[in-house]
Amino acid sequence: MPELPEVETICQALKPVLEGASFQKIQLNRPNLRYPFPVNLESELAYYPISHVRRRAKYILVDFSHGLTLIWHLGMSGRVVVENITATSLKPSPHDHVIFTTSHNYKITYRDPRRFGFLRLSPTNQLGKISPFSTLGPEALNDPKFNAKVFYDRLQSCNISLKNALLNQKIIAGIGNIYASEALWQARLSPLRLTKSLTLTETERLLKELQDVLRRAIAAGGSTLRDHARPNGDIGYFQHEFKVYNRESALCFRCQVFPLSKIIQSGRATYYCIKCQQ
Ligand SMILES: [Zn+2]
Repeated sequence: MPELPEVETICQALKPVLEGASFQKIQLNRPNLRYPFPVNLESELAYYPISHVRRRAKYILVDFSHGLTLIWHLGMSGRVVVENITATSLKPSPHDHVIFTTSHNYKITYRDPRRFGFLRLSPTNQLGKISPFSTLGPEALNDPKFNAKVFYDRLQSCNISLKNALLNQKIIAGIGNIYASEALWQARLSPLRLTKSLTLTETERLLKELQDVLRRAIAAGGSTLRDHARPNGDIGYFQHEFKVYNRESALCFRCQVFPLSKIIQSGRATYYCIKCQQ
């Protein structure tokens, strides 16, 4: 599933292609994905200049100069392929559901085999009032109003396990299952700890490591993007070196003594070291 670093990488790749350009054509190859496509999507957007491409949590937001925003979620398996229209090499697939053609001769293909992704439209100035944006917590990265003290207060306002707190989008936005486990391992905190038991110092450590995990993954995505951009512009997925995720029973990289444990919390797998994470 594309997590925050993947979505951020895709946003960074779309920015130079879309900002200042417009869509000339939006080809929909089926009536819906997770939800039906917005009515008249092409006539609502085509030929209007795109002012910004940005990310909020795991949503790509494309702002248009006439006051509309395209909300794009990549679901479980969404990939985005950017190609110059004069040099396309992508082999068409039955999972290519949306094809955008831009005024600057780019073709952007949205491929999503499991079809959990979606496109929605909203007036830009109403975004903060609609679900899920009205209840989203602060961004883990690059949010000037977010710091360890704010995070601490948010964690103290409930009493749930740390892992579930990181996945709770109302507490902090955009953290998915993989990076929650990775950040807790780096911060040496047990995923089972209750939020109220955390000290401010521990919260500072958690936020620092969480941001470090995300920044390193974004940097890895950027380098993968450069590699991938050469053959076919595929900017959907890349492999990271995970320290705990999917490493059940493998030796912990830190203590080199304990095999990593896998537990299920709220239906999601958590990987951690019982020795290093207290
Ligand atoms: Zn360990």
